[in-house]
Amino acid sequence: MTTAKRLGLASVALIGLGASAAYYATIMAMKGYAFPRRGLDCLVFGLVAAMTVLVLLVFWRSVHRDMGLISLQLDQMARTGQVGMLMANGTHELTRIIRPLNDFLSASHRQQETLRAENRELQIQARISAAEKNHTEAIIFSISDVVIVTNRFDELILANEAAEKLFGFKSSAVVRKTIEDVIRDATLVRLIRETRSHGANFPRKVVEHIVGDKGANRTYTLTLSCVLAPANGVAGVVSVLHDITREKEIARMKTDFVSHVSHELKTPLASIKAYVEMLVDGEARDEKTRREFYEIISTETDRLHRLIENILNISRIESGVVKMVREPVSLTAVTRQALDVTAPAARDKNIRLVERLAPMLNQVEADGDMICQAVLNLLSNAVKYTPPGGTVTVAVTADERRNVVTCEVADTGVGIPADDLPHVFDKFYRVAANNRMASGTGLGLTLVKHIIETAHDGRLLVTSEVNKGSRFGIELPMLR
Ligand code: ADP
Repeated sequence: MTTAKRLGLASVALIGLGASAAYYATIMAMKGYAFPRRGLDCLVFGLVAAMTVLVLLVFWRSVHRDMGLISLQLDQMARTGQVGMLMANGTHELTRIIRPLNDFLSASHRQQETLRAENRELQIQARISAAEKNHTEAIIFSISDVVIVTNRFDELILANEAAEKLFGFKSSAVVRKTIEDVIRDATLVRLIRETRSHGANFPRKVVEHIVGDKGANRTYTLTLSCVLAPANGVAGVVSVLHDITREKEIARMKTDFVSHVSHELKTPLASIKAYVEMLVDGEARDEKTRREFYEIISTETDRLHRLIENILNISRIESGVVKMVREPVSLTAVTRQALDVTAPAARDKNIRLVERLAPMLNQVEADGDMICQAVLNLLSNAVKYTPPGGTVTVAVTADERRNVVTCEVADTGVGIPADDLPHVFDKFYRVAANNRMASGTGLGLTLVKHIIETAHDGRLLVTSEVNKGSRFGIELPMLR
């Protein structure tokens, strides 16, 4: 028996005894007797006391059982977190407590259900937001433009891989750091701060921005956009840097191209004009001189024709309107044709032409004229960019294992600096260091690339070393 139970029983017994004593004393007083007078009175007193104790005991046991039941149910609710209704065996006094308690419990149960539903909803929202955030970050990380996001305190909160590479930091290590501690580019930092402070008045700014040390500068279009918060506040700034170095270079090259082409057109035109005028003025008195003049006019006209053809061919292949005649062609025969055209120029410059041509049977399915044009461009470049006394070696080989036929043109010329090498096939690109060697338009190799790669699914090979020479090759699928 627990202490509480013992105390309970003792109090019930005491209350019972006290109640019977009071009852008996009242009766005796009413009869005018002194207390207790006889043995019968003692018996009656004892019986009344025992009855009272019994009634109280039964009452107390019932209350105690219900209390136990309620405490058990409350314990279970606390353990499981499930709010339910309380049940008792019907003790009147307890029922009066249980009813409002149940009302309270059912209200809190409803509240708990609402909270659970809201919690579920919030968890779903949180999951969706996290997925959207990851998705947005993945997009930002995958774009090649540099993206930097700062908050309203000018602290870095997001930067993609391109930004990390350009400014040399690791976002995970610098997140929430002030922008000037992360980016050592005072102009960019100032622009970000300005955009944030101007806020809604100038929410977007686009400027040209140069990043890098002298010599390795890159030009970017910098777009700064304010992220506006409710009530015209500023949540942060998104800065996007788009590299336009190449576009700028191409624009410059186009300008150069126009002046080159004009020059290239002007030189033969001026010569044609001068000789025609001399002929008209009768300055060529004998047949031999006239023939000489005619030949010069014819050569210069060919030069003009070649230049214009080059430009037209490139644009035809680029726009896909070129008409190709594909037929079995011997690369050796085509190379020999090109060599015949180049031989006089090589002789004039005292350049030795070495031929290493495999037998005529190496066949490819191609447009012979186009391939001849490509080989011719490689050969004339080799002659153009090799100083007198040098050697140009031409080799045609077949690789049965790889099923390819290759034509390689190697020279002992000025070579191409490593920085320029990846660009030599670009339209209008001319290697600045080699410009003084020969005039040109920067279109010859572009045409070669278009003919071999775009029109014939072939491959171009190039290696070069400054002052040692260059080796250009074309590789075409072998006809089976
Ligand atoms: P270009 O009309 O200027 O010769 P190309 O497109 O044929 O134009 O060649 C592009 C540039 O590549 C040239 O300006 C030249 O500087 C360089 N180049 C091409 N072939 C050679 C070579 N064999 N040796 C050295 N430089 C070369």
